[in-house]
Amino acid sequence: MSNAVREYQMRFAEIFSAERAFAFWKGRVALYAILKALGIKEGDEVILPGYTCVVDVNPVKYLGARPVYVDIEPDTYNIDVNLLEQNITANTKVIIAQHTYGYPCELDTIMDIARRNSIAVVEDCCLALGSKYKGKTVGTFGKAAYFSFQWNKLYTTGLGGMVLTNDLRLAEKIQSLCEKELCRPSKKEILMLVAQLAVYRAIVYPRTTALAQTLFRYLTKKGIVVGSSKFDEYAAAPIEPDFFKAMSVIQARCGLRQLKKIEENIAYRKKMAHIYDKMLEEKGWPTRQYDASIIEPVMVRYPVRIVEKEKALAQAAKAGVELGSWFDSPLHQIRTSLRAYDYEPGSCPQAEKAAREVVNLPLHLRVSEKTAERTVEFITCFTKVL
Ligand SMILES: *Cc1c(COP(=O)(O)O)cnc(C)c1O
Repeated sequence: MSNAVREYQMRFAEIFSAERAFAFWKGRVALYAILKALGIKEGDEVILPGYTCVVDVNPVKYLGARPVYVDIEPDTYNIDVNLLEQNITANTKVIIAQHTYGYPCELDTIMDIARRNSIAVVEDCCLALGSKYKGKTVGTFGKAAYFSFQWNKLYTTGLGGMVLTNDLRLAEKIQSLCEKELCRPSKKEILMLVAQLAVYRAIVYPRTTALAQTLFRYLTKKGIVVGSSKFDEYAAAPIEPDFFKAMSVIQARCGLRQLKKIEENIAYRKKMAHIYDKMLEEKGWPTRQYDASIIEPVMVRYPVRIVEKEKALAQAAKAGVELGSWFDSPLHQIRTSLRAYDYEPGSCPQAEKAAREVVNLPLHLRVSEKTAERTVEFITCFTKVL
């Protein structure tokens, strides 16, 4: 392993005061490492929110386990803890506590249920780097947590993922798994990643234009830059031989630079989210609903519910307004073959409703107050969902 990757892992663990961190090519690879090290195998069940990304489901399927989806709670889009116990069976081995949009899950209840049933909790912190639950940073509650540094997360290394854990026995297992099975990215993949980062810096970073984003997505589709998801990862396909891949030096160096600015990044996102709260409130729109005495969210994007989602997304692209849409299905990006992932259409009504209604507003460092105002002007022309 290179020194840069080792240093990035150490620095990352340090900022969470956690024991160990392990860097990977992508976030989903980090989840796979955790599940495999926990011994997840055929016949096991893994609980996930029915409002997630299909790339979270694939590692479960790769190991032959069955994903079990639990509906969400409509204010925070996180797993509804009142529905948790009825979904636990003798085969349940893991609960994936996904902190959606940056809102921490109801961790006290989840940890308590998990403890009573001898189930491991794995935190999905891909959208919640820096969020706090009862004063403690998320990612340090469960058996392990994983993070993503894909291009629209809190900060990016192009692609990238990290495991965080305080469990030394699990860490040893992940370590030995990496020594035995981890493959290296190819020269071509690294070159494409460098190109991606260059494109990102040149066209996406300086301006917050929807045009740049559209162009970036187009280039990704054409295979000119490495997208975070290959087309075939959207099908319930068997694991690719080179899926379990290490982080490259370029990603690690990029991550180390980003960690130096992490405090400002987090502070800016918190400030912008409060600005959106105020602007929406002034227009008589619902704002974020959470108990500030319990959670302190660091949001990656700001969710808003509207009636005409498809129309708004199409018009935003034309008007140059940066409007996002995760998750647009219970298993984001999968529209049709949900059953191939063991999702029964209709089984998570709140998640399906959210997928139909929620668009999200940008909170990154390129969003000025003026951009936020324009975005709010745009979105409030549509019909709010109360
Ligand atoms: C981005 C994301 C992932 C996966 O990250 P990759 O690095 O693209 O593999 C997983 N879960 C959630 C909730 C995410 O937002």
